[in-house]
Amino acid sequence: MPTPATNKAATLDRTVAYLKGIGPAKAKLLGEELQIHTLGDLLHAYPFRYVDRTKFHRIIDIIPNEGAVQVKGKLTSLNVKGNGRAMRLVGRLRDDSGAALELVWFRGINVLSNMFIVGEEYICYGPVTEFNGKLSITHPEMEAAKRAPSAENATFEPVYSSTEKLNRRGLDARGRRKLIRALFDELKATDVPEIIPDHLMTELRLMPRIPALKAIHLPANQAELEAARRRMKFEELFLLQMRLLQLKVVRENQVAGYTFGSIGETFNRFYTEKLPFELTGAQKRVVKEIRHDLGRGVQMNRLLQGDVGSGKTMVGLLSMLMALDNGFQACMMAPTEILAYQHFEGITEYLEGMDLRVEFLSGSVKGKARKAILEDLAEGKIDILLGTHALIEPTVVFKNLGLAIIDEQHRFGVKQRAKLWVKNKPYPPHVLVMTATPIPRTLAMTAYGDLDVSVIDELPPGRTPIQTVHFTEHRRQRVFGRIREEIAKGRQAYIVYPLIEENEKLDLLALEEAYDEMRHKFPPPEYQISVVHGKMKPENKDAEMARFKNGETQLMMATTVIEVGVNVPNATIMVIVHTERFGLSQLHQLRGRVGRGAEESYCILLSSVKLSKESRERIKTMVETTDGFKIAEADLRLRGPGMIDGTQQSGVLQMRIADLAKDGRILSVARDRAKDILEADPKLDNPQYAPLKAHLAKYMAAVKGWGRIS
Ligand code: ADP
Ligand code: MG
Repeated sequence: MPTPATNKAATLDRTVAYLKGIGPAKAKLLGEELQIHTLGDLLHAYPFRYVDRTKFHRIIDIIPNEGAVQVKGKLTSLNVKGNGRAMRLVGRLRDDSGAALELVWFRGINVLSNMFIVGEEYICYGPVTEFNGKLSITHPEMEAAKRAPSAENATFEPVYSSTEKLNRRGLDARGRRKLIRALFDELKATDVPEIIPDHLMTELRLMPRIPALKAIHLPANQAELEAARRRMKFEELFLLQMRLLQLKVVRENQVAGYTFGSIGETFNRFYTEKLPFELTGAQKRVVKEIRHDLGRGVQMNRLLQGDVGSGKTMVGLLSMLMALDNGFQACMMAPTEILAYQHFEGITEYLEGMDLRVEFLSGSVKGKARKAILEDLAEGKIDILLGTHALIEPTVVFKNLGLAIIDEQHRFGVKQRAKLWVKNKPYPPHVLVMTATPIPRTLAMTAYGDLDVSVIDELPPGRTPIQTVHFTEHRRQRVFGRIREEIAKGRQAYIVYPLIEENEKLDLLALEEAYDEMRHKFPPPEYQISVVHGKMKPENKDAEMARFKNGETQLMMATTVIEVGVNVPNATIMVIVHTERFGLSQLHQLRGRVGRGAEESYCILLSSVKLSKESRERIKTMVETTDGFKIAEADLRLRGPGMIDGTQQSGVLQMRIADLAKDGRILSVARDRAKDILEADPKLDNPQYAPLKAHLAKYMAAVKGWGRIS
């Protein structure tokens, strides 16, 4: 028996072995199987589902593929069938309705066949499918009916994630519930102090902490459970936001930076004389935000989000001019040679007559030319350096780098980005990271919650929206006809094929076959076709891209290598083949390659006839909207937060109870309130925040290392 802790708050740090009904062996198993080591872990391992023990489906009424059902019936047989990989345990469950269904297990056959008893009554839960006219549930959740609490005792039961090992040792649903009851018997009010400040409790009408935790595990009814869940979701998101905002303050205090105090002649001259268009409202706002950042004496670490074509490059250029005006050099790094060179060409053109030296550096700049650039860079003779990964090589030394811009940041690894930091002394350069992958607001607030985020949420005027349509494959002749029409008008076309890594060879083969077909449909000399794919040598790829860009070829057949940033305004039609094999954000990026000029543009999504529900949903989203943020929200809904581009490396998305796809409103409130509190009382010195402060201090240590994008 551990000695009773003198510090009461430490109760939750005790091992679960401390509880009645669980010895060291079972405690160890809980730790191994579910990472539940302490009482606190147990308290915060919430049920993932609740069942109403009074409601059962009658097997005779079950419609397959309509979600999970709960049935209660007698196990009438249990047999191992098949062998090798097809070996499975099959049980039959018959209920009062007289109908039966099959229960099927492919794993744990030995254990399970000894655990279940033919003739006993069981409560089974799981989604029902139909195979050969038979209803079945694969790997159902099972509980002996006699061990389940009776309807009078508890109608609303928590279900926890468990494993077969735990079930066998008595830590099944029932065992866990017993443990939870024992835990609540032990807990004193001081063990679980209220950490949400009083004024928020009142304002948001939140359930107090202990009752809420209790109701999460052992709810009396649906209403109580809902109130408890709302409270715990708020708590989770509020604490997360408090931590992120505190980290932000810490970061800002630690990393000093150059102060770009003045907007000078270069910027002003460019702005008044050279700027070829009026900035959109969103661009102006973002430039202002960046200008403010650069003037504070703190290193800027800002993420700029803006949909494809929203004009991020110009914002980047204006920021670089601010650095130049303060006596510094600036650089911008892009993930591909094509893209980097495009920046170089574009920016050189914008800056014509400005007497600034702009250079380009990539792996293909070699020999004397490279040497000259490196020397001049070190001597400060070059103002702006544009290029690829080559920029972060150790041989590239700046005289005084004041601002580093990273375009399409999700293409770079964290380590690569970090190398830019050490390019300057004593202070690191200011860093602006640009991405065309819109991140849903809720994700941005968490994944990048401690960073500064700017958003360009407005496209330059005069764009004709892209018309998107969906066709099934057997209507491709019509699609070819549309392509011909566009080419006849002097326009160009993209045809995009999927390339999935584990299937690369097959995909390439498919691309070759498709090329033969296209050659046939679009014969020379009238039509010229470019082909670009990821397996080509970079120089060949670039040469083909260049041919298309110059208008020497009218058709560009490509795999997703064209996804990022390529600008060919004369291309007005894109056909995506096997659309169902692309993810939403990828489709959005691809589509952004057309609609870059003033002409009306088209995107045709070809797919097979048979589509999964999710593919159908993705295609529907693409047809309905061109708004990158809406598409990102749909992506989040369809795939969950862990899968969204650009956020995988973030450790903050594993939540216990909140769901970023659904709890955006709670999240906004949590963030706003956290901000208010920290603005009024940055150190949480007011005694009313003491429990909150203590709680945060405990967890701050665990989250070190979060939060730098570069
Ligand atoms: P992205 O955000 O995808 O990097 P770009 O910076 O490449 O977008 O801009 C796309 C196109 O829009 C470019 O041709 C650019 O010149 C043009 N553009 C940018 N800002 C404006 C504006 N305010 N008005 C008109 N055209 C603009
Ligand atoms: Mg761009």
